Amino acid sequence: MIKYNIKCENNHEFESWFSDSDEFDKLNKKKLLECIYCSSKKIRKSIMAPMVFGKQLKKEDGLSLLDKKLLNEKSELLKIREYIEKNFEFVGDKLSQKAREVYYDKRTKKSIYGTATSEERDELEEEGIDLLSVPWVDKDN
Ligand SMILES: [Zn+2]
Repeated sequence: MIKYNIKCENNHEFESWFSDSDEFDKLNKKKLLECIYCSSKKIRKSIMAPMVFGKQLKKEDGLSLLDKKLLNEKSELLKIREYIEKNFEFVGDKLSQKAREVYYDKRTKKSIYGTATSEERDELEEEGIDLLSVPWVDKDN
């Protein structure tokens, strides 16, 4: 399961779970998705929660899993989630701000996770700060 933030044309936001990243696109194409507040069918996913940032990211064992083609394996996704929750500092929607702090502070090796809008992500990318999207799975099903 993957969680997306959904935004409608009237800027209502809500969260929804999908079995995988293709499911949203398929359902949306068929107009089977609608805003829970105003029933608009003009919706898009604004954020995939969460994203991670850390200078040591590539070297950390847990996240090397992301490089492998195991992302359809729920057990692997759960491992990644557990690893992040244990080793990364949660910064909520302050991710873009905190990622900058970590990036420009030469002494810190902190790894953080949280959410950012696609606009914030673009801005960070221009500064050379790459956030890594993490497919997030639901622990319960
Ligand atoms: Zn709406």
